[in-house]
Amino acid sequence: MAENLNLFTSTQAVVQEALQKLGYDEAMYELLKEPLRMLEVRIPVRMDDNTVKVFTGYRAQHNDAVGPTKGGVRFHPGVTDEEVKALSMWMTLKCGIVDLPYGGGKGGVTCDPREMSMGELERLSRGYVRAVSQIVGPTKDIPAPDVFTNAQIMAWMMDEYSRIDEFNSPGFITGKPLVLGGSQGRDRATAQGVTICINEAAKKVGIDMTGARVVIQGFGNAGSFLAKFLSDQGAKVIGISDAYGALHDPNGLDIDYLLDRRDSFGTVTTLFENTISNQELLELDCDILVPAAIENQITSDNAHNIKATIVVEAANGPTTSEATKILHDRGILLVPDVLASAGGVTVSYFEWVQNNQGYYWTEEEVSEKLHKKMVDAFENIYNVASTRNINMRLAAYMVGVRRTAEASRFRGWV
Ligand code: GLU
Repeated sequence: MAENLNLFTSTQAVVQEALQKLGYDEAMYELLKEPLRMLEVRIPVRMDDNTVKVFTGYRAQHNDAVGPTKGGVRFHPGVTDEEVKALSMWMTLKCGIVDLPYGGGKGGVTCDPREMSMGELERLSRGYVRAVSQIVGPTKDIPAPDVFTNAQIMAWMMDEYSRIDEFNSPGFITGKPLVLGGSQGRDRATAQGVTICINEAAKKVGIDMTGARVVIQGFGNAGSFLAKFLSDQGAKVIGISDAYGALHDPNGLDIDYLLDRRDSFGTVTTLFENTISNQELLELDCDILVPAAIENQITSDNAHNIKATIVVEAANGPTTSEATKILHDRGILLVPDVLASAGGVTVSYFEWVQNNQGYYWTEEEVSEKLHKKMVDAFENIYNVASTRNINMRLAAYMVGVRRTAEASRFRGWV
């Protein structure tokens, strides 16, 4: 049978297995296998050449039994309804794993921001908010950044929502610039969360982080901050990549130089001649491999050739179910996306709390609170995986889905 590369159906399969292991019946799976709400919108945008282009956008709300839904909005040519649905389910899992009072949500617009001007992006961002405004809000569903969206886009979106709401509404969206009620540390939160998971995982398998050889696929928000944190910590980042190729130096790459040269979409390899392919990068001899780019990168085709001792997923969905099993059987410790990348939504929650109370924390306070959440979550999931002798992905799904299932039961939905 061909391997399942469909993110939505493969996510459903793991959710089903997790619910079964927790002792829930089929009715609970029926409730949680799809988002409760999915809005598809058409957004007309006046382009700079004065033509009008109509974009398709989505907002999925997986389940709001625990609290308002929460999750980013991605601007990418590959956005589809199924991808947004799967991503909203992952947000439920992430919020459950780090114990935030939210359910999962996700949004997206099918577009290519790399080919749009700032003016076009602003009109698209505002148009998206107008289109979904009825179902979002600070106590309903709280958007945030995701692939190819950033603090500036959050600022436009908040401004548009504040006009519709006729109120200054900082708690409508997270990942804002600091002057508009953003939180200290939000921009680096995902990478900080991944770094914490890497350090915890390294302790478990006995890898000394000083001099540890790390390969990072992707040099976007998560990948670039991560490379910086790990090299500052004394690890040797021997490989990085972007959408066009990869760089490899067994003696360690000069991360500060690469950070200086990357563009805002994370492209840097086009400046070099001796590049290798993304596939070759994944199979490099290293201690820690971090897929921080896109989906379905480690599959049954290459899982047997992965040489890392630990794989930590900073991207959403980089390893297929089949590859997850192969890595587990080979004794490679895989820290799944829903745990490793939960740092972003955790600091988004801190941002929302600060907006609600109108009192702001220092960077140290944010970092300390994030550290505790991530370490607790890692330990919990690692223990569930070892005691039940299952892989960490299934353990993470069990921990992540449990609260939403319990809350749905208490509310009498199932
Ligand atoms: N887009 C990020 C994620 O996938 C962050 C979501 C948020 O901050 O709400 O986890």
